[in-house]
Order: sequence, then structure tokens, then C-alpha cells
Amino acid sequence: MTFEEIVKFHGHLCPGVTSGHLLSKYALELIDAKYGDNLYCVAEAKNCMLDGIQCTTGCTIGKGNLAIENMGKFALTLVKGDTGDGVRIIADTSSVQAESKPELAKKLMEIDFKALCKVEKAHVEIPPKNMGNTIVCENCGEKFSDLFKIEKDAKTICPACAK
Ligand SMILES: [Zn+2]
Ligand SMILES: [Zn+2]
Repeated sequence: MTFEEIVKFHGHLCPGVTSGHLLSKYALELIDAKYGDNLYCVAEAKNCMLDGIQCTTGCTIGKGNLAIENMGKFALTLVKGDTGDGVRIIADTSSVQAESKPELAKKLMEIDFKALCKVEKAHVEIPPKNMGNTIVCENCGEKFSDLFKIEKDAKTICPACAK
């Protein structure tokens, strides 16, 4: 996806989506990978940055290869899916001044973004994919994954019915 397409997908031009894109682009370069490769990413913020990451790395929440460890940091760890080895990158954009958020986003695209980044080697123990088995809730009759089952009054029920 081009940056314009990413902004269109995200819905607006902002420093978050821009940082996510630029951090991802740099991380891909550092680990010699490209969009859609077998990768695993850990994002350290739950904000606009995530869309930039998903569109640039191909790691998505839906596929399960994008994890969020929310610390409110513009940082990510991108590793190879087979070895778990890669890099962690954090950007400090506080030196970049702009009148508005879209202006700041534009500036981030123009400046030497890499110069604002701190890079370190990283290793991630990639959790195995576990979708569980499909079972039927004995209360509402809806199908759900047994990873979420709750035993109550000698019945196996879903979290919604346990509320
Ligand atoms: Zn945004
Ligand atoms: Zn139920």
C-alpha cells in the first residue's frame, strides 16, 4: 500500500498513522523483510499507529500476528515469524515542531525519520496460535470457543450468559 492508500484506509492524516508506517518501513528494512512476509509484531501503543503498522507490515490483529502491549509508546518490535528474531524501534519526534497534527504528519514524512529512532535487537517468543474447539453454550445455544467456557451450576456456558 502506498502512504496515500494507508491514510485513506485510516481515515485521516495524523502523526500516529505516519509514525506507524515509518517505524514499520524502517523495521522491515532492518530485518530484510517485506510486506506480507511471515512476521510477528508487538506494538507498544493502542492508537492510530496500529493502522500504519498493519498496512505497512501486513501483520494484523485479525491474522493474530500483531500483538499490543500498550504502554503509550511510539514503539514496535518486528521479528521474523520463524525465528522470533528482529528489532525494536522507538521514535522520539519531540524535536519536530508543527502547527497542527496533519502538519506534523507531513513533516515526519519529509524529515530523516530514521535519525529520530532508537534501534535495538529483539527476540520475541511467539505464542502458538490457539483457537480452541467450538462448543455450544448450554444456555443460549450459540457456538463459541471452549477457550472462553465458564462452568456454572453444572452447565458449560458462554461468557455472555455468565454475566
Ligand atoms: Zn489517526
Ligand atoms: Zn450463552
